[in-house]
Amino acid sequence: MKKTVLKQYARLIAKMGGNVQKGQDVVVVASLDQPEFVKMLVEECYRAGARKVRVEWSYQPLTKIHARYQKEKVLSEVTEWEKAKLQEMVDTLPCRIYLASEDPDGLKGINRKFFKAAQKRAIINKPYRDAIDNKHQWCIAAVPGEAWAKKLYPKMRKQQAIEQLWKDILLTSRADGVTFGSDPVQAWEEHNADLKDRCRYLNELKLRKLTYKASNGTDFTVELMPESRFHGGSDFTLQGVEFNPNIPSEEAFTSPDRRTANGIVYATKPLSYAGQLIENFWIRFEEGRAVEWKAEVGQDVLDYIIGQDDGSHYLGEVALVPKESPINTSGVLFYNTLFDENAACHLALGAGFNECVEGFQDLSEEELFEKGLNDSIGHTDFMIGSDDLSIDGVTEDGKTVPIFRNGTWAF
Ligand code: ZN
Repeated sequence: MKKTVLKQYARLIAKMGGNVQKGQDVVVVASLDQPEFVKMLVEECYRAGARKVRVEWSYQPLTKIHARYQKEKVLSEVTEWEKAKLQEMVDTLPCRIYLASEDPDGLKGINRKFFKAAQKRAIINKPYRDAIDNKHQWCIAAVPGEAWAKKLYPKMRKQQAIEQLWKDILLTSRADGVTFGSDPVQAWEEHNADLKDRCRYLNELKLRKLTYKASNGTDFTVELMPESRFHGGSDFTLQGVEFNPNIPSEEAFTSPDRRTANGIVYATKPLSYAGQLIENFWIRFEEGRAVEWKAEVGQDVLDYIIGQDDGSHYLGEVALVPKESPINTSGVLFYNTLFDENAACHLALGAGFNECVEGFQDLSEEELFEKGLNDSIGHTDFMIGSDDLSIDGVTEDGKTVPIFRNGTWAF
């Protein structure tokens, strides 16, 4: 990939994604796949005014080895220095940038105790995560890893596959410098403006219920809280700093009332979770709770996702994505939720988003929960959008409004 294009992409992540502030610290989390790009990104963060940029390298095969040799108790540990590190994050609120590049099958066959341990660590980490929620900028973007590229393009040679995945990532991130104009930052400003218009319209409708129907069998309703608000594109920290948490992002999303989902939804894309695939699955809900589910492939992983805690049986997110999304039209299945969730309408099991509740700043976690916002240690998106998906909305005063027809916006 051309250096100039990659530089623009790095700048997009630093400026639009994380919107690194003058004097702010930055933490970049990356695998060993694209060290040259990480170097570019770190430089762009400094150019944006970062005080200090720290890179945390990860390497998936090591995760597997640790899981094989460590006892579950050791795997579950969050040591005192790790807690000190988390506390420092709470105190200094760095901008956090995560570069995804993992092999979708990289943790296949990993020891079961790994997931139990991950769950225990997540519970210990949660207070720290809650303490920085909405207070710092963060961004997830992708770079091609070798194994990921070979998974998508098994017949290509290694370099060719990586190059093709770069093209896919940059196109769908509106950053190839051609498809959406020469300046990715400007392309993102236009895209954000469109998403914000749609969210404004949806919020003005004062929707209280969504009804989903598709020929694959999806037949499902979910209610929104009176305070549910749709969000899309850029986000703001409580201090007012604008940032784009996901590159790419195509969704208008909100959090529903967790007690209200009813009916059955069929997944329309495989779900890649922690290096394992779940394919052809459905979930049935009763009064908000997932009561029955079945996967042709990856049943145990789906059991794990839903069984993490009580809250992971309930929905925390509903998201609308039209079938014209560049990710969907690219026809590429990325085996990565960052991309695949932005190819189609989706739901998420697990935690809801505080910022999707009007007036959340003045509400305690308990009050938000009381209103219907879900809470959980997990948050897992799964895709249910199809070419013939219809969604109707019912407004506060009982009017039915078409929201989606044939898989795309009806307005
Ligand atoms: Zn989403």
